[in-house]
Amino acid sequence: MQAGGQTVLIDCGRGVTQRLIQLGVKLGAVNQLFITHLHSDHVVGIPDLWLTGWLEIPSAQRKGALQVFGPEGTRNMMESLEKAYEWDIRTRIADQKLAKENVAVFATEIKEGVVYERDGLKVSAFDVDHGDLIKPAFGFRIDYGGRSAVVSGDTRFNENLIRHATGTDLLIHQVAAVRPELLASPVFQAILAHHTKPEEAGVVFARTKPRLAVFYHFSLLGTPQVPAMTEQEVVELARKNYSGPLLVGEDLMVFRVGHEGVSVGK
Ligand SMILES: [Zn+2]
Ligand SMILES: [Zn+2]
Repeated sequence: MQAGGQTVLIDCGRGVTQRLIQLGVKLGAVNQLFITHLHSDHVVGIPDLWLTGWLEIPSAQRKGALQVFGPEGTRNMMESLEKAYEWDIRTRIADQKLAKENVAVFATEIKEGVVYERDGLKVSAFDVDHGDLIKPAFGFRIDYGGRSAVVSGDTRFNENLIRHATGTDLLIHQVAAVRPELLASPVFQAILAHHTKPEEAGVVFARTKPRLAVFYHFSLLGTPQVPAMTEQEVVELARKNYSGPLLVGEDLMVFRVGHEGVSVGK
């Protein structure tokens, strides 16, 4: 998310660093990272962002610490990463004369509420429900200049998300689905029980009424015999409960949240 000359990142799964570079976003511009929860698919890209962003190459050049805001466990994870990459950090300081202060990490464990506010850009965390053992798990709402965007993180259908996302301009929401023939599988049942189904997401969109709803984080499960549901089928199921603007999110998609509405580019 970019607003007011700031770039903040929500979650850092695989490939994020490459995608930022493809978009022309300087890695060094990302000083604030907000983590919804610590499942690996949301954090596995952190070492790449952190350590590539530290380099002196033109696409990186972070100045100052990487600030990481996340649930309980975030500090331990970041300290452990510092240990894991100790050789790389020590060697680059000695060999490339990189500044130690630019590889520093400042981890903050957050609770529901406003977690960051600077120059009119406000980031709020709100509790979502990603399962009984995955607490806390957050969604985030970004507010700037009377406009807003919400990212659901991973969650089951959740009233608190609806409360915080109501009236937002842009709602980016995860979804999970399998075909009925596969519902007997305990593995698939467990995954579905931690996420929002397309019809439920349709209810979320209908009640929050964003100017644009976008699906992301598709957990579409299949087997060699029974193929995964397509993204278009997911949209059709959501359409049972929602008739407003809805898009399938793709890598490198760019949303511009203006006062007149949300426009989409690539
Ligand atoms: Zn998760
Ligand atoms: Zn996930």
